[in-house]
Amino acid sequence: MATHKLLLLPGDGIGPEVMAEVKKLIAFLNARRLGSFEIEEGLVGGCCYDAHKVAITDATMAKAHAADAVIFGAVGGPQWDRVPYEVRPEAGLLRLRKELGLFANIRPAICYPALVESSSLKREVVDGLDIIILRELTGGVYFGEPKTITDLGNGQKRAIDTQVYDTYEIERIARVAFDLARRRRNKLTSMEKRNVMKSGVLWNEVVTQVHAREYKDVQLEHQLADSGGMNLVKWPKQFDVIVTDNLFGDMLSDIAAMLTGSLGMLPSASLGAEDDQTGKRKALYEPVHGSAPDIAGKGLANPIAMIGSLAMCLRYSFGLGEAADALEKAVANVLASGLRTKDIAAPGTNAIGTAGMGDAVVSELRRALK
Ligand code: NAD
Repeated sequence: MATHKLLLLPGDGIGPEVMAEVKKLIAFLNARRLGSFEIEEGLVGGCCYDAHKVAITDATMAKAHAADAVIFGAVGGPQWDRVPYEVRPEAGLLRLRKELGLFANIRPAICYPALVESSSLKREVVDGLDIIILRELTGGVYFGEPKTITDLGNGQKRAIDTQVYDTYEIERIARVAFDLARRRRNKLTSMEKRNVMKSGVLWNEVVTQVHAREYKDVQLEHQLADSGGMNLVKWPKQFDVIVTDNLFGDMLSDIAAMLTGSLGMLPSASLGAEDDQTGKRKALYEPVHGSAPDIAGKGLANPIAMIGSLAMCLRYSFGLGEAADALEKAVANVLASGLRTKDIAAPGTNAIGTAGMGDAVVSELRRALK
């Protein structure tokens, strides 16, 4: 069995608390020979700034490059609000994304039957929901130049952001999207604003060409991002995989997140390009939530988003789909049994803590794999 090298970066706030539950699961997977994992750990974010005056060290970056996958907790907190901008906690995550070339951000939105009531939408709209938003992560308006604010000298200023996409950037995210759709219900929806943006025209054209050339078997549809957003809350089950640019993806994935009820439930994966020689991709897996300073250190954090990120790592980095399915099923069963952390518990009901939830998932996995 191949041994996979994981770099764990717990970070700040609740990061180390939820990562502790992932470590229990990795130990379980190793003991049951469901996979073979070697782990290393490093500092990132505010804790790294305190130790080294940077948000991530070169040595940790080298470990990230050498690892088969990085599992990231969360960074930040009020105690680092005043540190210099270049070494703020988030700079560690941005450096990882940039240097590992993580251009494809996969965010599943799954509504567990047991949590249907936590969504702000009606039961029939979200019950059984299982979709993926794929966001382009390294291009578009967040990075395009020029990006300036100019004083016009007449009491006015002018702010400019630039939306730029090259063909290769759209092609590579489209391929990830079609591949994902092929492994699921074989339907891809591409969203842009071709009616008012040139980058939307090119996006639409390139996705259509990649489809015609390489993925004719996948059903492709195009929606304008604004009506796509409306459809996402009106009838989200019409989608399987949605692919979109950095800006629209930022918004649409947050909307999709709320369909499922709680921030503590949402995992994500960020993937880089496939290596020509090995076929492997650089990858980083992290919960969507932040470091939750308001509950840090209290053992209250919901570890499910972090555990779901490990499941995505098993599936996308190591092809261990069965182990990933078993882990996700164990989480669903634990929720179905009624166990809840505070963020997803009904008011006035009893809740368990971070370690209690992690232990329950390990026990359920053990029971299911007997
Ligand atoms: P947050 O996601 O940390 O918290 C928002 C709310 O959700 C809080 O009330 C928190 O208690 C709750 N919450 C979040 N995760 C939870 C979990 N697993 N279980 C239970 N409740 C949970 O967002 P924020 O408050 O805007 O930011 C706090 C800090 O985190 C800031 O410093 C911010 O910059 C940072 N942040 C980091 C990341 C990251 O590391 N990727 C992402 C977002 C925010």
